[in-house]
Amino acid sequence: MLRSHYSTDVGEEEFGKKIAIAGWVEDIRNLGGIAFILLRDRKGKAQITCIKKEIPEIFEKITSLSRESVISAEGLCQKNEKVRNGWELLPEKMEILSQAETPLPMGIADKVNVDFDTRLDNRFIDLRREKVQAIFKIRHTFIEGASEFLSSNGFLQVHTPKITVSSPEGGTEVFKINYFGRDAYLVQSPQLYKQIMMATGMDRVYEIAWYFRAEEHDTSRHLNESTAIDLEMAFIDSEEDVMKIGEKLVKSVLEKIVEENEKEMKILDVNLDIPQLPFTRVTYDEVAEMLEKKVDFKWGDDLGTDEEKIVGNEVNEQFYFITRFPLKTKPFYAMPDGDYARAFDLACKGTEISSGAQRIHDYNMLVGRMKELGMNVENFDEYLKAFRYGMPPHGGFGLGIERFLMEVLELGNIRECILFPRDKKRISP
Ligand code: ATP
Ligand code: MG
Repeated sequence: MLRSHYSTDVGEEEFGKKIAIAGWVEDIRNLGGIAFILLRDRKGKAQITCIKKEIPEIFEKITSLSRESVISAEGLCQKNEKVRNGWELLPEKMEILSQAETPLPMGIADKVNVDFDTRLDNRFIDLRREKVQAIFKIRHTFIEGASEFLSSNGFLQVHTPKITVSSPEGGTEVFKINYFGRDAYLVQSPQLYKQIMMATGMDRVYEIAWYFRAEEHDTSRHLNESTAIDLEMAFIDSEEDVMKIGEKLVKSVLEKIVEENEKEMKILDVNLDIPQLPFTRVTYDEVAEMLEKKVDFKWGDDLGTDEEKIVGNEVNEQFYFITRFPLKTKPFYAMPDGDYARAFDLACKGTEISSGAQRIHDYNMLVGRMKELGMNVENFDEYLKAFRYGMPPHGGFGLGIERFLMEVLELGNIRECILFPRDKKRISP
């Protein structure tokens, strides 16, 4: 078989030449004397046209094919304006590489809606669909764009442990594991390790990080295993320095997506607006004032989904920061400023997509905060040690990758944005 052009991505320069293509048989139509295959690969689709009396042995093979089988075919690439992409393949050779069983657990091209659980149960098939692949192609661009942006701004990519003996919030929302007979936990975020990194002199780091959270809630915007762009930077003057990096990062990845994923955006039927910088900043106090008028909300309360939506409507911007949260709503490591924390959330269309802060870098202040919150300081020995021998002022944020994509691409369910979602009910496939 010819291997030179093993793709349905064929340009006009190939018309009239011999090519080879390979992929999945999306559809077969047998009209008696002529049969058509719609072949799909990662680049798109192509038609294979076979006339029975010309090559009866290939015609035979085609009629024995089941949908979603994998084949390769070689033959003339013939211009034909009546075919969707302007050409068809007239096969001289055809090989069945893998015959698919029937019936399929779910359809790929069918117009009928398959329910979400069936899709997730058969994710490898679901992922063959154009719409689903579009999400992951954009996800790829997003991560690549974030890496490029951070790298060019002096951030070093790191990978910190996911198995640990302590957990950031010291709380209950962690998965406990048996580590050779000792208790250990899956990390909720790289928080503690990226702060430890600030004591090393590698003072701008980022991680494409896994979060493991044993949160009981089963919502359309939470996963129990998720990913994030997490960063930490030292020698900041305030959380404002961190926010500036955050908004530039968001703008720069959106620009890259618009540039590189026009086709995918069209498939998903979404338009991306490139936001203006700086993003609007509203303080928690302003948010509280908005909310007190509309719902049962008191200063110091956390923002739930409904509250976030109300604020989103009031602010009426695609992206905005909420700043100066009450200290009691934020974790122990957030830098206090009176009753407030130097902490911020970034929201997209009324949903939190990122949280960040300036952190406490002073050892005594940090231990003091932990004690105030009734935490068991000994559990954090290894973390605290990094604050005793020279720790610069620092801050950072975590930006949920799936959360970002679900909002920007208007997908409605966070599970759409991760290959194999983990939630309270689902641990396979
Ligand atoms: P939320 O209030 O939305 O539950 P959080 O404040 O608990 O989120 P953070 O600890 O601030 O989350 O994590 C930083 C970011 O990571 C969030 O802004 C979000 O984008 C993402 N994230 C956090 N938890 C989850 C989760 N369970 N599933 C998916 N993404 C998450
Ligand atoms: Mg948060």
